[in-house]
Amino acid sequence: MQALTSKAKQVSRKPMSFTERLYLPAIFKGMMITFSHIFKKKPTINYPEKQRPFSPVFRGMQILNRDEEGRENCTACGLCAVACPAEAITMEAAERQAGEENLYREEKYAAKYEINMLRCIFCGLCEEACPKDAIYLSETFAPADYQRKQFVYAKNELLIPHPKENPEAYKKALGNRANKSTVN
Ligand code: SF4
Ligand code: SF4
Repeated sequence: MQALTSKAKQVSRKPMSFTERLYLPAIFKGMMITFSHIFKKKPTINYPEKQRPFSPVFRGMQILNRDEEGRENCTACGLCAVACPAEAITMEAAERQAGEENLYREEKYAAKYEINMLRCIFCGLCEEACPKDAIYLSETFAPADYQRKQFVYAKNELLIPHPKENPEAYKKALGNRANKSTVN
C-alpha cells in the first residue's frame, strides 16, 4: 500500500524483552530527563508578579489622548470609525461650550466614544486614520471578564490620565510614546 506521507514510521511489533516488561529502565530514563530539566533555565515566568516587556510594535488597547494641558484631543470627526474594518467604534459629537476650552482642544469633541473590544482586531487603522493624534494603541490589553458588555469600553475608560493631575499614570499610559514626538 502506498504511504500518504514520507514521514510515516514503521512501528515495531516485536514482543517486549524481559527488561522492557519490567518497565524500570524506561521509568528511570524518564526520571533522568525530568531531573535534567530542574537545572535548566525556566522558559516560563511567574506571571502576574513578573511580566515580560511588550514588543515596541505591540498593539494593545486603545487610549484616547490628551495634550500637555490635559485637554482631550479628539474632535469627533469620525475618521477612526470609518477606517475601522471591524466597526468597533461608535461616537457622538458635541459642540464645545464657552468655558470648556480647558477640557477640549477643538471646538467639537466626542461626548460619547465607545470601542467594542470583542470586535476590535487591533489592526491600528484607527490610530493611522486620526488626524489629531487623539487615539493610539497602547502597551496593555483589555483584561478578561465574564460578561460581554464589560468589553464595550466607554470614553472615561479609554481616556489617558490627566498629565497635570496624575503625571505618573499619564507617563505610564504613554509608554514608548513618551520618547516620541507627537503630531498635532
Ligand atoms: S484597532 Fe482596528 S479594529 Fe480595533 S478599533 Fe482600531 S481600527 Fe477598529
Ligand atoms: S479619535 Fe481621531 S479620528 Fe477618531 S473621532 Fe477622534 S479625532 Fe477623529
